Amino acid sequence: MTVERAWVGTFMTALEMAGCSLSVLPVDDAVLARLDAPTSAAAWPAAGRGRVGDDAEVPAPEADEPSGTLLPADSPLRAALTAVAHALEAAEPELTAMDREVGDGDLGVSLRRAARAVLAELDRLPGETPAATLRAVSALVRRVVGGTSGPLYAVLLLRAATALDGVAQPGPAEWAAAFTAGVEGVTDLGGARPGDATMVDALVPAASSLAERLDLGAAVIAAEQGAAATAALRARRGRASYVGERAVGRVDPGAHAVALWLAAVRDALT
Ligand code: ADP
Ligand code: MG
Repeated sequence: MTVERAWVGTFMTALEMAGCSLSVLPVDDAVLARLDAPTSAAAWPAAGRGRVGDDAEVPAPEADEPSGTLLPADSPLRAALTAVAHALEAAEPELTAMDREVGDGDLGVSLRRAARAVLAELDRLPGETPAATLRAVSALVRRVVGGTSGPLYAVLLLRAATALDGVAQPGPAEWAAAFTAGVEGVTDLGGARPGDATMVDALVPAASSLAERLDLGAAVIAAEQGAAATAALRARRGRASYVGERAVGRVDPGAHAVALWLAAVRDALT
């Protein structure tokens, strides 16, 4: 890879975004000419700045070849991941519309991006243990999903993986405990509590129900009821909290998404 130009600055900002991002763009002479062209756009660095020396060669890393045990084609975990991905892909228009009402409209696209990444990686996911698989899916979600949901789902999957460490074939009680651990990760990281009109309103009742009854069908109903109840709440977390009263009467899209993917897991496994 040869680096032709490098710019550092405030090219994109986002509310509450802490950190920085790195964008790489393949260029040809025509694109370079445009990037270098004089402009009166205040935020774009003056023409020609950004040029780097001739010796800026960066070797591209070798692509990772899958190694070790992969997730078997007939594994229930693979069936559940596939079902969740298909459900989230299909729900994109609905979630987009819902998040436009109370947020910034990106939730459907974010979750669809996660779904597509999981489907694309299915044949490369590690499968020694469910913990290894969930850990890999967590890393994938962290990489491809932006917004608030990305880190929250990444931590949910990571904490669930940690709870399942060393368990080759978790039973229902172990899966329920892992789900609870994942949900605790979401509340630890995001700070939302039930009643704040976030996905936590679906996750917490679903995890409690599953731990108590070990019945996915009942957990889905708990998630659906929790999601539906967010319509009566005023959001205290997330973007819906900025729109205030406008969000009242609307189901939180993140909570609705939880009910959707949990129903997909139920359908895949029962
Ligand atoms: P944003 O665009 O606001 O960064 P997303 O669109 O990715 O976030 O996700 C929006 C959803 O995230 C909301 O519908 C809500 O369910 C959930 N959410 C927002 N803030 C929190 C939080 N602090 N804790 C848990 N869930 C949250
Ligand atoms: Mg959003």
